[in-house]
Amino acid sequence: TGRFVVGGNWKCNGNTASIQKLVQDLNAGEITADVEVICAPPMIYLPRVQSTLDRKYQLSAQNCWVGEGGAFTGEVAAEMLADNNIPWVILGHSERRALLGESDEFIGQKVAYAISKGLSVMACIGETLEERERGDTLNVCRRQLQAIVNCISPADWAKVVIAYEPVWAIGTGKVATPVEAQETHAGIRKYMAEAVSPAVASAVRIQYGGSVNAGNCEELARCEDIDGFLVGGASLDGAAFVTICNSAR
Ligand code: 13P
Repeated sequence: TGRFVVGGNWKCNGNTASIQKLVQDLNAGEITADVEVICAPPMIYLPRVQSTLDRKYQLSAQNCWVGEGGAFTGEVAAEMLADNNIPWVILGHSERRALLGESDEFIGQKVAYAISKGLSVMACIGETLEERERGDTLNVCRRQLQAIVNCISPADWAKVVIAYEPVWAIGTGKVATPVEAQETHAGIRKYMAEAVSPAVASAVRIQYGGSVNAGNCEELARCEDIDGFLVGGASLDGAAFVTICNSAR
């Protein structure tokens, strides 16, 4: 797999003052590891962050529309992100799946359209607690990935990072153990070999997300199939986020 890749998903947090401070703290931080780092501020703060954040960080949106722009009130189209030199977008986050009813198929279409406009995608998957307890963790991950596999070509996977985020670990302080995370990441990679190709499976980077912090990142980063993190809460703390970025092997 390629370079370690860490995303900071700021979600719907912050204001002008807090984001200015976060940018200052990130700019002051030293990224020493060989790592790709991507920050995802709320849409309305993207231009401000773009003009102030150091270029050692890339930028991402947290969502975009499923297709071409038009009469879709409140939405932002992939081509608008590309037009503004935002290279990344997060798609399929569990919060959008659960709270906004985004389906597997809809997310597959979004991924395909975003890639067609030149964007790179952090595509989120993951099971709920109920699904895990039922023993359905990998079934859910496979189903969510299959919907993307159905919409894009094998070559398109070069533009995709898979973010495995167990829903029960998101914002709960209940992080997956390295053994749990590694087991699922390996299962995801095995599925990708079967559903796409062994070459894509070994090249695709799989991030872990869910209560990653400065204290637990190192042992997770040592897991063979963990190629990065997607960080929520801890990405709002510049120093903590920089520590997580530097936890790469
Ligand atoms: P937390 O790191 O706050 O658990 O959030 C993870 C997440 O959802 C990142 O997309």
